[in-house]
Amino acid sequence: MMKAKRQPIRTCVACRNTDQKRKLMRIVRLPDGSVTFDAKGKLNGRGAYLCTTAQCITVAEKQKRLERSLKSAPITKEFFNLVLQIAEQIELDDAERSTKIAAPGSGIGDSV
Ligand SMILES: [Zn+2]
Repeated sequence: MMKAKRQPIRTCVACRNTDQKRKLMRIVRLPDGSVTFDAKGKLNGRGAYLCTTAQCITVAEKQKRLERSLKSAPITKEFFNLVLQIAEQIELDDAERSTKIAAPGSGIGDSV
């Protein structure tokens, strides 16, 4: 239990909470100046991290946290809408995964 693998810890630009990189979305400013969502966390460029919560995404949008962190041009509403959709999908995938982990095998006869 104590021997968790060391993983990169990142800070959400909105709430300043830290989390394992896996649980934060990486937004990156590419060398050409455009800003995009980095699904794999491997794109070159300046990165900023956001929780997968609507609250943090909204704070980032309203307070221009991503623009400040990335030193980018203003980010469009459409981009934030896309990020919101991605966040929802990540949360859904996560819920599905933990359900599977909680009920391995057939699941028949497992008590809750
Ligand atoms: Zn956050």
